[in-house]
Formats: sequence, structure tokens, C-alpha cells
Amino acid sequence: MTEIRIEWMSEASDCDQAGCSGGYAEGAKVYFDEKLVLDLSPSASCFDSVDYDKDEVFGRILGALGHILVECSYD
Ligand SMILES: [Zn+2]
Repeated sequence: MTEIRIEWMSEASDCDQAGCSGGYAEGAKVYFDEKLVLDLSPSASCFDSVDYDKDEVFGRILGALGHILVECSYD
């Protein structure tokens, strides 16, 4: 059994520009049996924040395990 450890991370950046609230991003580092497998570190900025939500992280974990995740929805 592989222990999968997800270290959730968040990052915020401040901004001095009027009307701008800065940036906020979330991400994670994922370890399989203490070995870093996925580095999805967030990077916050006013524009182009690098952000991974939980669904993205879990999808990539499945990918790292050799599974392809296909999601669909029915209206
Ligand atoms: Zn800004």
C-alpha cells in the first residue's frame, strides 16, 4: 500500500496598487511514501496566479498512478 500524503498550500501576495487586492492561490505537494511526486506549488500574483484546486490535484494524483480521469456531466 502506498501512503499518499497531500500537503495543501496557499499563497497570498499583497499589492500596493489602488483597487487591487493582490493575489491568492492554492496548491499542493503530493508525496507517495514520503517521496515528492507532484509539486503543484501555488504562486500568487495580481494576474496569472498559478492555482490548483482540489479537483485538479486529485486528478493529477490519479494520473501519477497511471489512470486517466474523464469527467462528464449531464444536464
Ligand atoms: Zn495588483
